[in-house]
Amino acid sequence: MPATVLVLNCGSSSLKYAVVQPDTGRQLADGIVERIGDAEGVPDHEAALRAAFDQLADAGLRLDELGLVAVGHRVVHGGPDLYRPTVVDDALIAEVRSLSALAPLHNPPALLGIEVARKVLPDLPHVAVFDTAFFHDLPAAAATYAIDRDVAEQWHIRRYGFHGTSHQYVSEQAAEFLGVPVASLNQIVLHLGNGASASAIVGGRPQDTTMGLTPMEGLVMGTRSGDVDPGVLVYLWRTAGMSVEDIETMLNKRSGVRGLGGEIDFRVLHRRIDEGDADARLAYDVYIHRLRKYIGAYLALLGNTDVITFTAGVGENDAAVRRDALSGMAPLGIELDEHLNASPGRGARRISFETSPVTVLVIPTDEELAIARACVGVLG
Ligand code: ADP
Repeated sequence: MPATVLVLNCGSSSLKYAVVQPDTGRQLADGIVERIGDAEGVPDHEAALRAAFDQLADAGLRLDELGLVAVGHRVVHGGPDLYRPTVVDDALIAEVRSLSALAPLHNPPALLGIEVARKVLPDLPHVAVFDTAFFHDLPAAAATYAIDRDVAEQWHIRRYGFHGTSHQYVSEQAAEFLGVPVASLNQIVLHLGNGASASAIVGGRPQDTTMGLTPMEGLVMGTRSGDVDPGVLVYLWRTAGMSVEDIETMLNKRSGVRGLGGEIDFRVLHRRIDEGDADARLAYDVYIHRLRKYIGAYLALLGNTDVITFTAGVGENDAAVRRDALSGMAPLGIELDEHLNASPGRGARRISFETSPVTVLVIPTDEELAIARACVGVLG
């Protein structure tokens, strides 16, 4: 039985898990336990992990027969210093805890997941893999906010970037698909899921990304606003009388495509647009407008782009989004093949004409596999 890694991704009310063979890339199982702390769900994260084991058992997978060699934990924010995959010990837990102020919505549940998993699986090494890691060495010009330097330094305010595991994995897969070294490529990666971010990558090293101190900056997302004038926040606080918590919740949960169109799922959004729903139309138009703006920005930043890759739920599945994101860009060297783009497919595939100066790809992301491989890498 080849070695396997249990990969955990803990949110405040959900636990996603996967059992992955890092060598073969095979995923033996995956699932999600939702409604943690809800009267109709499970009481806490420990119960959620045990429920995940029950689901595995129902699928005929016994924990002691899986050949588990490690547990990999997705941790959203590594702060200024944590970026290598790191074996979990008490010191690491303390350090991640000290970052909770930087990522109050994301790091505390990840910590809970780590603590519960260490308790339930004490004999396995646990490894933390940080979503910010890939962007740790962003050039200073991209990482720095143009605000008072002393304030930024004191409070560790910089652009950290997120979805790093996915941007790295997908950019490496793009090179593999094209049969060239990643070092030879200028790439734009568009990770469009519920969360959404773009990155510009030169030779495997990110030059910019759309998310910043938190995963709220940049593209319009399922429920997050992406870029807003910071003056809006001040205005809401001072004049509209909203509390800091109200503002944070609004920007994270009641904004983006849901905030404008009342719907997070792009399949439903398209249906409503077809039915003439003006709110859905506006939500989609704002989403596409922002996406095109960043594609243009990154084309300019790179000067010469070899490949643009779409990934994640929307990027992999929504041909209309891909078409509308890149339409009319032939003068910029982007020639999408409408037929290839609209053909359903599952694996990595090209959707531009063979003669297009910029190659456009769709590549399924696999953050679980990337985390599993990072675990094995650090454990040797
Ligand atoms: P997460 O950021 O939660 O990991 P995903 O990458 O799984 O999200 O993306 C989920 C989103 O992908 C859904 O909300 C939906 O909008 C979109 N999506 C999934 N399947 C399709 C599809 N067949 N067509 C269009 N959009 C899809």
